[in-house]
Amino acid sequence: MPKIAISLVDFTYIIDNWDRIIIKYSQLYPVHIIVHSESAKFFGGFIFILSYLKLTNPNLLKKTHGEVATLLYISRRIDFSAMHRYRVDSWTEEKNRQVFGPCSNRNGHGHDYKLEVMVKGKLNNHTGMVVNTGDIKLAVGNLIDKELDGKFLNEEHPYFKQNIPTAENIVAYLWEAISQVLENCSLNRLKLYENHYLFSEKEEGDMVTFTRRYHFSSAHRLHSDQLSDKENERIFGKCNNPYGHGHNYYLDVAVKGIPDNITGMVINMADLDEIVEKIVLEEFDHKHLNLDTAVFKGLNPTSEVMAKVVYDMLKPYIPKLYRIGVWETEKNYFEYINEEETVHG
Ligand SMILES: [Zn+2]
Ligand SMILES: [Zn+2]
Repeated sequence: MPKIAISLVDFTYIIDNWDRIIIKYSQLYPVHIIVHSESAKFFGGFIFILSYLKLTNPNLLKKTHGEVATLLYISRRIDFSAMHRYRVDSWTEEKNRQVFGPCSNRNGHGHDYKLEVMVKGKLNNHTGMVVNTGDIKLAVGNLIDKELDGKFLNEEHPYFKQNIPTAENIVAYLWEAISQVLENCSLNRLKLYENHYLFSEKEEGDMVTFTRRYHFSSAHRLHSDQLSDKENERIFGKCNNPYGHGHNYYLDVAVKGIPDNITGMVINMADLDEIVEKIVLEEFDHKHLNLDTAVFKGLNPTSEVMAKVVYDMLKPYIPKLYRIGVWETEKNYFEYINEEETVHG
């Protein structure tokens, strides 16, 4: 049986813990989201948003997220396990190995998937709900249970007999299938985690976003050349320590596009890993960002600056690059999306 848990209310972006305040940087406009963790207990599993923004440019919010003033977004998580393999039967063993690596193993391998289903709808003032989350649980849970959970997808699912069940293809398939079983609300976004280091996302339209997560450890010192020593100390406190301090960083590199007809991938994963390793990780891992890297010369290496810097480093090598997310700690997440480029595809 798939397990269903309420894991998050994702109003505009990632909140992976109910009582956490997440600051999202998009084009360097800050958005603050505060949710009420206790309300989940009282309202059948959905959470009220106490305050959702402090935004320097309201037009951006409108452009990016549509009718935010009237629509509410609700997210439920559904877990399942499934097996798959990445293989093109008409290719040689060697070519399959070369393109898909260990995923090409004929006998398959498996994952514990986590699926986040985010729907949008209008608030019903009588019930205090947009939609009964129990209904979503039932409709989506049944679908997953019947079609995916515990299955070898390439062998047992009609769609995935024809299309390789990559994370991109699975999320695109689920978008169509789930859209048909929802009532009184519509799908806003699906997010499918294959594991902690790989997930795919789908919103309205043909495109799928594919994200890989990487890890590195670095030291930095927060210090701005534009400010006096006293001001630096006042603003950055301990982080202004002349020697620096360090973090376990996690870096989310997201590409967006239409999955390839044959491989089912938006980008070849081995190529992506090689580029990020060479361009970013070799440059940052086990280094002092202020002292050892050329890219932060004259820049204050805050994580919001890092998100933009990494985007600029990778973009020439990855034309489909969509978003860079930097986890400075588990509680601090920053991201950079080049909205202008995404508007024009
Ligand atoms: Zn796999
Ligand atoms: Zn720091």
